[in-house]
Amino acid sequence: MKYKTLSPMEKYVIIDKGTEAPFSGIYEKFDKKGTYVCKQCGAELYRSEDKFDAHCGWPSFDDEIPGAVRKATDADGRRTEIMCANCGAHLGHVFLGEGFTAKNTRHCVNSISLDFKAAEQAKTETAVFAGGCFWGVEYYMEKEKGVISVESGYTGGHTQNPSYEAVCSGTTGHIEAVKITYDPSKTSYEKLAKLFFEIHDPTQANGQGPDIGYQYQSAVFYKNDEQKKVTEKLISQLKEKGFHVVTRLIPAKTFWKAEDYHQNYYDNKGGTPYCHARKKRF
Ligand SMILES: [Zn+2]
Repeated sequence: MKYKTLSPMEKYVIIDKGTEAPFSGIYEKFDKKGTYVCKQCGAELYRSEDKFDAHCGWPSFDDEIPGAVRKATDADGRRTEIMCANCGAHLGHVFLGEGFTAKNTRHCVNSISLDFKAAEQAKTETAVFAGGCFWGVEYYMEKEKGVISVESGYTGGHTQNPSYEAVCSGTTGHIEAVKITYDPSKTSYEKLAKLFFEIHDPTQANGQGPDIGYQYQSAVFYKNDEQKKVTEKLISQLKEKGFHVVTRLIPAKTFWKAEDYHQNYYDNKGGTPYCHARKKRF
């Protein structure tokens, strides 16, 4: 492992076991989520979950990453010095029995001995489907594993900020749709698209169920080639099974979120959708 070249101040603390001035380090007041690593060798030492504010002027942790920190009696014979178990870099001292947290331990660490790696933001993806009245599509999509949120709204048309009334009048070109935000590590576009084809009737051309009109047509708004290909594949599978799928494939356009009273309609009002039911088609 290649060690970082240290600045004079870093060397003073990390090699010569000095102490940075209290309230001077960059991680003293710092509460981002992530991992603290050794400045010299990069080994992971502490997690942000174990950090607490001891008001002592240095970053404080009540636990270390298992095996990451070596302890030894300090040269002063009283305190316990803590070092990076991998490279021996001086970190600070550990104190027990002060009662700051349930673990009763305070790793008092020099900021300058540490680097910080931010936790990766969970990646999310989006999908937009139109399958008739958005209340029903939202109802089923929200219950699916890996789905983070579902918004009911309007898309595909030519007016800005359309209202429900305007969309119902049929003059906006917009279609009722849902925008799904999901965690691609827990589900996939294909899974959601399959569900979409099973919670509405993709063979109905003039609307969905009892809701008749342009704004209730079946459509998939794809935002990239991959989403388009997945949808085309599923449609051809359904056609092979004898379903005369009329679902349109449309490049994604601006998605306009619907009025608040349309969001989470069934969860707020109670009841279950009149217009949608799940039917196995794949
Ligand atoms: Zn180290």
